[in-house]
Amino acid sequence: MTCLNCGKSLEHMKASARYCDGRCRGEWRRRPLSVPVEPSNLIAQAVAATMADCGVAETPLAGIGNALAVQLDSGATPPGALAAVCRQLLAVLEQAEGLKVIHSPVRDKIDELRARGAERSRRLANGDY
Ligand SMILES: [Zn+2]
Repeated sequence: MTCLNCGKSLEHMKASARYCDGRCRGEWRRRPLSVPVEPSNLIAQAVAATMADCGVAETPLAGIGNALAVQLDSGATPPGALAAVCRQLLAVLEQAEGLKVIHSPVRDKIDELRARGAERSRRLANGDY
């Protein structure tokens, strides 16, 4: 068992002891209830997954997305800058989604059909049929 406040070992104290002394007990009871959020990498993981899904994992866009995600994950972003960082990250993700549409099989199929149509129009105009 260690002191809840300072982490010092309590091995020489009675089994029910939770603090090393009265000062630590007082500090623990007065601690702010909103303790800082543990840093995580949830946002960075989600952004990396989205970038991979959009086929842009190896691009500068993914790097920018990761940098912004790491910033948000750190929890160290000043409150005044939080909205701006979030907006920027969403813009980057939107760009990635846009690139995904361009590279999608459906889009490729549409392009192929358009090209075929254009070829047919050209032949008709030339009297090839
Ligand atoms: Zn203590």
